[in-house]
Amino acid sequence: RKRCVRISTGSKHGFQSMSINEVYGEFRCGKTQLAHTMAVIAQLPKEMGGAEGKVAYIDTEGTFRPERIMEIAERFGVDPDQACENIAYARAQNSEMQMELLEGLASNFATNEYRLLVIDSIMSLYRTDFIGRGELSERQQVLGGFLRRATQMAEEFNLVVLMTNQVQSDPGASALFAGADGRKPVGGHILAHASTTRLLLRKGRGEERVAKIVDSPDCPEREASYIITNGGIND
Ligand code: ADP
Ligand code: MG
Repeated sequence: RKRCVRISTGSKHGFQSMSINEVYGEFRCGKTQLAHTMAVIAQLPKEMGGAEGKVAYIDTEGTFRPERIMEIAERFGVDPDQACENIAYARAQNSEMQMELLEGLASNFATNEYRLLVIDSIMSLYRTDFIGRGELSERQQVLGGFLRRATQMAEEFNLVVLMTNQVQSDPGASALFAGADGRKPVGGHILAHASTTRLLLRKGRGEERVAKIVDSPDCPEREASYIITNGGIND
């Protein structure tokens, strides 16, 4: 049996391989910055919170920036060009392509060099491809297929899977269902069940931001604050 690996988020927390880790929160709270930060940290030695692995990055919103990878690489003292080369980047334009790209990565993962798979963000293309109540059950079925394959790959190839996710924009609906903090990730029960760990990001005072572990098999519910810097996510 493979030994599980852990990759740091750049803050105190880390995510484990062989499972899906979901990071959700409002626009501009730092989900994409966290994905960039982890894409560099994954490449670092274990002592530095990494897994000495390559990274696959599926971008569904067109917000990946190699320049940010290079800046973050400098923070950790690694060669910026090498850091970019170790990231297999792909832009998905629709939900069908998102699935095809995932399937296509199986040959990359088979080399056993990869330790992190990023999907930034998991729901955006499903939300634009399947509109309204009438298409909801079909959307959830297709989403379920993607999540099953991602889970299977996480286990087979010993990957940390990092998925970012949006929150429901209807404040009435989220207040009703999400409890005190009024933020509920989209994707319904299918995504909730697929995610082993859920991390909620929100803005704090000034530059401060707060991460809350909402659902974890090995951590109690707790909060940690962080900031976004040139070098990525930091305490
Ligand atoms: P999300 O993906 O959750 O919508 P992002 O990860 O794109 O949000 O975060 C956007 C935020 O990150 C913005 O507030 C922006 O100012 C901040 N940011 C981006 N780059 C830097 C940087 N180099 N230094 C500090 N903050 C940055
Ligand atoms: Mg983003």
